Amino acid sequence: MAEAGHLEAVVERCVARCSNDRGELLSVLRGVQGELGCLPRDALTAVAAALGLPRANVEATASFYHLLHGEPHGAYEILFSDNIVDELAGRRELMQYLCEQLWVQPGKLSEDGLVWIATTSDIGLADQAPAALVNGRPLPALDKSRLDLVTELVRERRPLAEWPAMLFAVADNVRRAGPLLGAPFAPGTALTRAAALGAEGVLAEMAAAKLRGRGGAGFPTATKWSSCRRAPDPQRYVVCNADEGEPGTFKDRVLLARHADLVFEGMTLAALAIGAQQGFVYLRGEYADLLIPLEAALARRRRDGLLGRGIGGAAGFDFDIALRLGAGAYICGEESALIESLEGKPGHPRNRPPYPDRCGFRGKPTAVNNVETFACAARIVADGAAAFSALGTADSAGTKLVSVAGDVARPGTYEVPFGIAIRELLAESGAREPQAVQVGGPSGTLVSWREFGRRIAFEDVPTAGAFMVFGRGRDLFEVARNFTRFFAHESCGFCTPCRVGTTLLANTMDKLAAGKGSAWDMTQMKSLMHVMLTMSHCGLGHTAAQPVVQTMAKFPEAFERRLKNLDFEPAFDLDGALATARLITGRDDRWAHLLSREP
Ligand code: SF4
Repeated sequence: MAEAGHLEAVVERCVARCSNDRGELLSVLRGVQGELGCLPRDALTAVAAALGLPRANVEATASFYHLLHGEPHGAYEILFSDNIVDELAGRRELMQYLCEQLWVQPGKLSEDGLVWIATTSDIGLADQAPAALVNGRPLPALDKSRLDLVTELVRERRPLAEWPAMLFAVADNVRRAGPLLGAPFAPGTALTRAAALGAEGVLAEMAAAKLRGRGGAGFPTATKWSSCRRAPDPQRYVVCNADEGEPGTFKDRVLLARHADLVFEGMTLAALAIGAQQGFVYLRGEYADLLIPLEAALARRRRDGLLGRGIGGAAGFDFDIALRLGAGAYICGEESALIESLEGKPGHPRNRPPYPDRCGFRGKPTAVNNVETFACAARIVADGAAAFSALGTADSAGTKLVSVAGDVARPGTYEVPFGIAIRELLAESGAREPQAVQVGGPSGTLVSWREFGRRIAFEDVPTAGAFMVFGRGRDLFEVARNFTRFFAHESCGFCTPCRVGTTLLANTMDKLAAGKGSAWDMTQMKSLMHVMLTMSHCGLGHTAAQPVVQTMAKFPEAFERRLKNLDFEPAFDLDGALATARLITGRDDRWAHLLSREP
């Protein structure tokens, strides 16, 4: 435990690094945890005092995010990704193997206080599954031999900086490139053209290109930016949503790692279009390893006059970008929850309207767009709207980055024109006897083998990017069960239909898996799903039941073979649970809960 003087010095340092800004509470907490190894109660009290915040507010934020913790996690915190793709690639067995090697139980600190091993939601490496994070750094493509090496390094207490680089080598796996991933881009190209177009000209280009948001909803970018520009408040913000938390997606990681200039240039164009001077990239906590290269790219752009005051020599065009790191909360991918998080609060989605384009970050007009949307905006201004919309369909212009993972020979990122048939992408990625594809992650669409002629497009099967393939041997009930557990874990807890509904749904799926399901449970699940769909506060609650609904509809046999009874059967076996107690006490009377001797 930290000495009081040391703890206060750490808090003081972290608060000062964030300019004593209450809105940077999350960054302060991350900093304190980074130095102390955890967030003890005294640290929260000290942070509250230093920032002049009620302690309850600090506690609420600290307890909301999965990557923050009050108890020490040792010198090595190893978090295995538990996305279904990792599961199918052997995550469970490998994690157990590592726990045995290091003499540690999952979710418990080892007796020597050295290591903590647990699971976490998808970490954005589904193309290199199974994968894990060690102290926030990615460990892709795990197998027993790599884990033997990890065991050795941990036992030797070797600092991470001395671990072999190959353990952390994340492959880009770009399998098909187009204008975003393949065409050369010289930083400043789009800004030079934008200087001639002006703000209205940039908006006109977005409209002519028919650019729609790549986060999944497909809202027209020109409409969003124009609304922001027309907002009466002159202080406006640009926010890049890099909280790529949808299981199975990793294409934003690739864009940020390889084409950060394209993203930053798109944000700068948005700033010109709406009249903003400050932008933020909200980067998911699981991508912390990208912070240093992204900071370096921003510094270079400032040196080159592409950020800062008088961008490109244009007097009055002032704009800069700051990076903000999340701390493990899927719900922060929802734009209003993301803004709450940017303000240092728990990521609870706001009531809407008003939408962020009128009332966003700190109550000011804010344009929130996905990483890929900003990259598209830069290409549109650099190449012209006509070149952009020459690809794709009438309602879905341009290309789409798709993260392909699962039962395929060539997992990775594919830049495809909108309108591509799912069958074509399956063939290109070397899918092995596919029976279904989950497009758009757990909240997206389950596409069965009968529907492989459907197309990736807003007007048919929309997607933020995930494309998880399941071969004929896979049990789709287990896929749906993994997704329901994910939603139960990630529900932010704000509203009852979702908080309780996701857990009940996950428990019922567990009951079915244990062979205790009945037709009664199916009826209960259907009515529960209706409540969640109609009464939840945000999209997570609305879509959390979708994996079950769609699997029931498209693969009913996956459920039917688990239903042994028509009548209700309890999940809890009271008689069995009391067996040991009966043995110890020697009771066999009619009150000892023996099924054969009901009182
Ligand atoms: Fe939170 Fe779920 Fe309610 Fe959305 S629906 S606000 S995630 S509890």
